[in-house]
Amino acid sequence: MTEVHGESDVETGVVRLRDALQGVPTYKPGRPPTQSPDFVSYKMSSNENPYPPLPGVIEAVARSAEQLNRYPDMGTAALREAIASDVGVSAEEIVPGTGSSGVLSAIVGATCEAGDEVVYAWRSFEAYPIMVALSGARSVQVPVTEDGRHDLDAMADAITRDTRLVIVCSPNNPTGPVVHTGELERFLERVPADVIVVLDEAYLEFVRDAEAPDGLAVYRAHPNVVLLRTFSKAYGLAGLRVGYAVARPQIAGPLRSCVIPFAVSDLAAKAAIASLEAKPELLERVEALVGERTRVLQGLRELGYDVPETQSNFVWLPLGSRTQEFAEAADAVGLSVRAFGDEGARVSVEAPEANTRLLQVAREFAERLR
Ligand SMILES: *Cc1c(COP(=O)(O)O)cnc(C)c1O
Repeated sequence: MTEVHGESDVETGVVRLRDALQGVPTYKPGRPPTQSPDFVSYKMSSNENPYPPLPGVIEAVARSAEQLNRYPDMGTAALREAIASDVGVSAEEIVPGTGSSGVLSAIVGATCEAGDEVVYAWRSFEAYPIMVALSGARSVQVPVTEDGRHDLDAMADAITRDTRLVIVCSPNNPTGPVVHTGELERFLERVPADVIVVLDEAYLEFVRDAEAPDGLAVYRAHPNVVLLRTFSKAYGLAGLRVGYAVARPQIAGPLRSCVIPFAVSDLAAKAAIASLEAKPELLERVEALVGERTRVLQGLRELGYDVPETQSNFVWLPLGSRTQEFAEAADAVGLSVRAFGDEGARVSVEAPEANTRLLQVAREFAERLR
């Protein structure tokens, strides 16, 4: 633990950093698409919302910009009130942060010390192993099933006395499916009461599966469940970095102390509040994206691709060793997709023209595979 990395030598700039930093994976952001005069390029690699912010949201941000010389409201009181009334809980139960990633990192910090274990499905959200490694805790990754679903029985089996946190990502990024109510309830019965279960609902608004759990009902029934939500996806505010957790006051209070002071800028808070006020309009956009998702999923399946069910704003193509080749083929026509090694490619649902072009690339690629 106290290993010194070489002699203490100020002149050569040798400083001591925590051992835990070794082996922290680096986050690979989705690549921007190749630009060409021959085509309009589309970024389909980061699960962003293709719609620009509503005019009312931009106005709220512009008004807030006039006060950039001031610190934001430390307690983010108005934001917490707005979120609480939208979710149907009290403001005491809301923990806002710099994106839901910022909140999750506070949750890991609040629960884990070196040697503790965090159980989650894999492959899942890339930020999980990074946050766990940074804390010095150990990731226990439980493989998803062949159809990209959480194996909740295996996850329950993986819980030990050292487990301090479990993350359930539903819908799962990057594979797409949700967990179902019955299996989640059976799973939660097996989790010790002193272990926090984070239900990461980043894509909640895109879910149409009737068997998907009602997160709030699950939260109400289980004091150790924490919901994690974001304004980055359905609400289209990825660039502003604002998300939140819903947790019991006894958990939420300490969590708020783990979030760095002034984590949420006033721009972000005002944009989030304006977005909640414009919720019906934003949900219409989500509905259009869900329609496009259905078209892309069906199109790919008709072409013979083995695409898992998706309840999010992306599809997963388990292409194995052909993954990079597919990503290159998409890139050649101005579409950037997210390739994960030799596992598969995740493609975000974009504007209709981009989705149509993706299906075209997939058709040509399928012919090449024959
Ligand atoms: C995009 C995403 C988030 C949200 O990240 P923000 O920090 O809120 O932008 C959280 N969890 C998952 C699984 C995601 O895909």
